[in-house]
Amino acid sequence: MKPSLTDTLCTRCGLCCDGSLFGDVELVGPGEATRLEIMGLEIDDNQADGDLLLQPCAALQGRRCGIYAHRPKCCRSFECRLLEDVRSGAVSVVRAADEIAEALKRIRRVKELLARLGERDDGLPLRERCAEALAREADAPHEMKRKRAELKAAMSAVETSIRKTFLGGGG
Ligand code: SF4
Ligand code: SF4
Repeated sequence: MKPSLTDTLCTRCGLCCDGSLFGDVELVGPGEATRLEIMGLEIDDNQADGDLLLQPCAALQGRRCGIYAHRPKCCRSFECRLLEDVRSGAVSVVRAADEIAEALKRIRRVKELLARLGERDDGLPLRERCAEALAREADAPHEMKRKRAELKAAMSAVETSIRKTFLGGGG
């Protein structure tokens, strides 16, 4: 049997679960939140619009969903722009795999810079981690300012690639 695109591509990606693309997943009704909470996942139930599953998702094991058969509705229905492009034939599977590898490389670089700046809270989405590291500016030594400038540039490249390749927002 031919492997699905999810098997071929998502299992080497995980960016829509690890806090790189999103900060949370919208849940449907209280039942989903309760079920996931029992499984040990972190839920924000203080939002007026409904409960949220927080990312990076604790169910992610490597680059695979550890609760695949029980994942919430929103995860079941989501397909990123890259998967849509492969399905439509606009992008080949090989090129999509390269795009994923390139995005992972850029994100690794951002994480390296975050670690060098002492930002090690990998329980937060990537954007939040960067915002926190970049906010500590004030009278930082020159070397720190240089690293922050590097982080800003690296994160900007990640944001552009995420918008263009995975979210389809252009730019
Ligand atoms: S970002 Fe796209 S390719 Fe990556 S895991 Fe999510 S749906 Fe799959
Ligand atoms: S439940 Fe699974 S598919 Fe949904 S965000 Fe978590 S790891 Fe990803």
